Amino acid sequence: MTALSGAPLGDLVLTGAAPFGGAPVDLVLSAGRIAAVFPAGTAAGPSPVDGRGLVLLPAFVDLHTHLREPGGEDAETIATGTAAAAHGGYSDVFAMANCSPVTDTPERVRHVLDLAERTASCRVHAVGAITEGLAGQRLAPLDELAAAGARMFSDDGRCVDDPVLVRDALAAGLRTGAVVAQHAQCGRLAGEGQINAGPAAERTGLPPWPATGEETVVARDLVLAADAGAALHVCHVSTARTVALVRWAKEQGWPVTAEVTPHHLLLTDAEAASEDTRFKVNPPLRSPADVRALRAALIDGTIDAVATDHAPHTAAAKAADWCGAPFGMTGLETALAVVAEVLHTARGVDWALLAQRMSQAPARIGGISAIAGRPIAVGEPATFTLVDPLARWTVDPADTAGRSHNTPFGGLSFTHRPVATVVDGHVTADRGGLFPGSTR
Ligand SMILES: [Zn+2]
Repeated sequence: MTALSGAPLGDLVLTGAAPFGGAPVDLVLSAGRIAAVFPAGTAAGPSPVDGRGLVLLPAFVDLHTHLREPGGEDAETIATGTAAAAHGGYSDVFAMANCSPVTDTPERVRHVLDLAERTASCRVHAVGAITEGLAGQRLAPLDELAAAGARMFSDDGRCVDDPVLVRDALAAGLRTGAVVAQHAQCGRLAGEGQINAGPAAERTGLPPWPATGEETVVARDLVLAADAGAALHVCHVSTARTVALVRWAKEQGWPVTAEVTPHHLLLTDAEAASEDTRFKVNPPLRSPADVRALRAALIDGTIDAVATDHAPHTAAAKAADWCGAPFGMTGLETALAVVAEVLHTARGVDWALLAQRMSQAPARIGGISAIAGRPIAVGEPATFTLVDPLARWTVDPADTAGRSHNTPFGGLSFTHRPVATVVDGHVTADRGGLFPGSTR
C-alpha cells in the first residue's frame, strides 16, 4: 500500500452534506480525521465548506484496475490512472499485474509501489501475478510477492488454466492473507471468440464466445477454493449461470466473493454487434437476460462488489477493426454514475447499498478494511467522496483525467457524479472547486 504525500487539509467544517443520502450533517475535519459530527447548521468552526445538496459516502475501492505502468505508458500511467480514480470517487485501487514487465517478482511489486508513492493521486495496492510472466506454466514466488506488499494474486487478462496451479495459488493465499482473483475463461472453450455467442455472433458473423468458457472455470475454481478453505475472488462475472454457481457456493458456505463491472451491468451484446470497438471487452458484453441476472445479484449480495476493470487503450489501438482491436474499456470516472443508475428505484438510489458494493465490500475482500470503507464517524479517517445527485451530465470521452478515451459511455447522459474526493484529509479530486486552495 502507498500513502499520499503532502500535508492534509487544515481544520475546516464541511457543512450540510448527507451521509449515505440521509440527514445532512456538519463534519469537523482536523489532522486528516473526522473530529466531530453535528446536525447540519449547528457546527461553528474555521473555513466552512458548503456541502449542501451533496451525498457523502466512504470513498470507493476498486479491486480491478489496469494502470498500465510500467510498459504501457502511452495508454495510461500510475499518475493519470489514479487521477482518474480520484475523480471517480476512489481512495484505493488494486493495480493489476499484466504490465510490461509483469508484476511477478518482489522487486517489481516494490517498483510499482515506489512509483505510486511518488506519483499517485490515490492509494495503490499491488497485485502480484499468479504465474511467471502470466504464462500459466510456473507459479510466481507468491510468498515473496506478498512479503513485498502484494495484496492480491491474479493473472488477470489471462486465465490460470492449470488446476494444480490454482490449487497451489489458493494455498499461498491462505498462508499470506492475499486473495486469489481469477479471470475465469477456459481457453479451449473461448477459443478465438470475439463476441457473445448467440444473436450477436449470428448477426455479425464474428467468431462466437460462449458463456461456458467462463462458467466451467468458475465451477472448477469454486471446488478448489472449498477444498483449500482459501478465499477465491471471481473477477468480472458476466453470465447468469456464473451468478447461479456463485450463489450456490455461498449457500454451501464456500469462501468465494465476486465482482461485476459497470459495463456488464448496463450494456449488452446488442451494442457489441455494432462492431464499434469501444464495446469490445473481455469477458464480452452479454445478453439482456445476463444483465438482468447480474443486476439482481448485485442487489441481493450474491455479487459482493463493483469493480471497474478499467482498461485504457490508445486511440490508435482501438482504431483497428473489431478483430484487430484490443479488449478493454476505461471505467473509473463513470462507475459511480452507472452503478447509481442501475440501483435507482422509485425511492431513489439506495446509497447505503451502493457504498457496500463500491467501498465496504471491496475493502474487505482486498484486506484493507482498516483504512478504507470506514464509517462516517468521529475518529475515523477523513476519507470520503462527495456525490452530486442532480448533476445531469453527459460523458465526454475527451474530458478525463486519464490518458485514454476508450469509454463505452461517451455521449450517454447520467444523473449522478462525484464532485470531490478526500483521502486521509488530502483533497485528491475537486471538480466542484469546493475546498480552499484545491487545484484538482
Ligand atoms: Zn480480466
